[in-house]
Amino acid sequence: MDTTRIAFLAVAFATHAVVGYALVRGATDADPRLGIVLGLLPDADFLFPAAWEWPLVHRGLTHTPLFAAAVVAGAYALRRERTVAIAVGLGIGSHLAIDSLSAKGIDWLFPLADTTGLGVSVHGPAATAALWAASLGVLAWRTEDPLVASVLSDRSADRSDRSDPSDRQTQRRE
Ligand SMILES: [Zn+2]
Repeated sequence: MDTTRIAFLAVAFATHAVVGYALVRGATDADPRLGIVLGLLPDADFLFPAAWEWPLVHRGLTHTPLFAAAVVAGAYALRRERTVAIAVGLGIGSHLAIDSLSAKGIDWLFPLADTTGLGVSVHGPAATAALWAASLGVLAWRTEDPLVASVLSDRSADRSDRSDPSDRQTQRRE
């Protein structure tokens, strides 16, 4: 594999990871690292032996809504938590959404029919910049870290707690 290809894949993996992380962080209370793992999961098909045939090839089975639905159902069966299931769906769904726009696309209707992509250069410079900007925007909006908040807004760092102790009426009975 030449260095251009390796660099392309590194950017692609990083983009899938950051988009998955940002979506889970922005939209759920689940551990956002789920977004990284699930955002990358479909590309585990890079590890399939070359001798394997369709649908066990890159952009095959692991890039289908059917597979995504099975993973979400499996996560729910294991954890019984809606939040986790939603996080898993967002992570894997974001990967499929991005890949489906590319020239190769994904098989939306697997195993019923073949579909093709839209031909967008999803891991090219423009799309990569847009996806990263959107993801970092979500993370900046969702962050509760006081240091980051103070950098983003110089007023928010110094908010005193104004709760009035007299509001808290404790009743003691013996
Ligand atoms: Zn992929």
